[in-house]
Amino acid sequence: MRSKLLSRKLPFIATLVYFAGGFLWITLSDLMVASLHLPETERTLVEIVKGDLFIALSALMVYFLLHRLTRISNETSFQKYLARHDPLTHLLNHPAWIEASTDALRQQDRNDATIVLIDVSQLRYINGAFGTAAGDFILRYMADLIQHHLEPGDVLGRSDASRFALFLPGHPESALESLFEDLSQASRHPVHIGLHRFRFSFAMGISRSPQDAVSISELFTLATIALDQAKLNPDRHLAYYSQTAAKTTLAALRLETDLGLAIERHEFIVHFQPILGLPGLRLLAVESLVRWQHPALGLIPPDTFIQTAEQIGLIHDLGRFVLKESIRTLGQLSVPESIRPSLAINLSALQFTHRDLVPSIQAILDETGFPPERLSLEITESTFINDPEQGRKILNQLRELGVSVALDDFGTGYSSLAYLQELPIQILKIDRALIKPLPTRESARRIARAVIDLAHSLELRVIAEGVEHREELEHLENAGCDAVQGFLFSRPMPASTLAAWILNQNDQPTGAA
Ligand code: C2E
Ligand code: CA
Ligand code: CA
Repeated sequence: MRSKLLSRKLPFIATLVYFAGGFLWITLSDLMVASLHLPETERTLVEIVKGDLFIALSALMVYFLLHRLTRISNETSFQKYLARHDPLTHLLNHPAWIEASTDALRQQDRNDATIVLIDVSQLRYINGAFGTAAGDFILRYMADLIQHHLEPGDVLGRSDASRFALFLPGHPESALESLFEDLSQASRHPVHIGLHRFRFSFAMGISRSPQDAVSISELFTLATIALDQAKLNPDRHLAYYSQTAAKTTLAALRLETDLGLAIERHEFIVHFQPILGLPGLRLLAVESLVRWQHPALGLIPPDTFIQTAEQIGLIHDLGRFVLKESIRTLGQLSVPESIRPSLAINLSALQFTHRDLVPSIQAILDETGFPPERLSLEITESTFINDPEQGRKILNQLRELGVSVALDDFGTGYSSLAYLQELPIQILKIDRALIKPLPTRESARRIARAVIDLAHSLELRVIAEGVEHREELEHLENAGCDAVQGFLFSRPMPASTLAAWILNQNDQPTGAA
């Protein structure tokens, strides 16, 4: 308060001091010169020097003042600039973009406009893995690319850390397509920063006025929803806002948010389904099947959330949880050691190819003392589609660990017998798709027999999954199948009933299910 008052009075005080100083200087110096009684020429000389000195001093003060003033005014305009712009890309910041777009929308006939949000995916990951310089580089690069497409009347801004917002007058569909194509083209080439080489990806969400909404802030919100829709679209990360799609997206996102917290909230549980040897139906192993005990929605099956868990990067933690929890459950089963089952664990393609997979399994085995020869990992053929060489390398490392690998879901999707002879796997799991027609079709029986024979010739053990009927079991037994699994014997069950089931099974005469 005091300093504010002082700063307001300062110019007045300074002027007064200058005036008084000048007045005193002139009066006193004149008196001094007069008292010296100098001859005329010398007195004139002294007065000239005195006057020049005064002017030099004043000039110095004017210079100092002007210097300060320009600096202050530069600082103020820079601060004003910063208040409206993003310092990294020099684009408008979010509030300034909203303001400029609102003005621009007002000038449109019939309120025709398009709002585009462009989001750099996984910016946080890029910053974390390659440093913030890499993230900054990508953002500036994207900003440049977008700016190349700007037409008069367009308004571009950076609306948050990873997101650009673009206002376009009217509905220029083809301009948007070409912007999307250019960005896609750029994202296909790897970016080099120092020793790092990586790719970026992006998503684009679009809303339009007047059909979706008529205010910029509402259009912005709807474009955000479209952006989420775009991210969920696996083929093409571009989406126009649509009311019906928004509902499913919001539901999916709510589930996604919940899923992110499910591990720490201990909402995942593991069920176990027995795998029984033929002949005799002796218990060989149990397959772990994860479930999500959602507080509001109840028990959610894995097919509903595994893909999302992969997308949000949760799958690795989930995989570690399933393995540890299953080993812990088996360790605590109060059954004799001689009938303690082996363990089968499912791995999605993303889990299998993660560089931490082998070390993480090794660590869990070391930590728990679980014998590796009692663990098998179930993977599907899709795991090898992208990089068969890498897949083979991981399979060999797992073999060195002493863990066996089963090819799951054989008979669905790409099923190619060619894989079987090339890959170091030990178990083949035939899908229910090949089991179900056994009782009714001779051709199905021939196929099943051929697959089992071929697997045996490659020294693979064969497990038939999804066995629901006794007739199916009989055909499998005739075809020489090694093991079976399915509702005929048991549905997947919680840990709490597993021990009782095993003991009961052990008491049954051989051959009963
Ligand atoms: P999957 O590996 O093929 O697992 C077998 C699925 O078939 C299980 O479904 C099981 O409940 C079901 N099933 C078992 N017997 C029968 C039967 O007789 N008839 C029929 N119709 N179905 C039967 P679930 O538990 O819903 O699991 C679905 C898929 O989710 C699994 O397919 C597996 O791919 C995946 N999954 C489960 N747990 C995990 C996990 O911990 N990690 C990963 N990455 N994936 C998992
Ligand atoms: Ca499986
Ligand atoms: Ca399967």
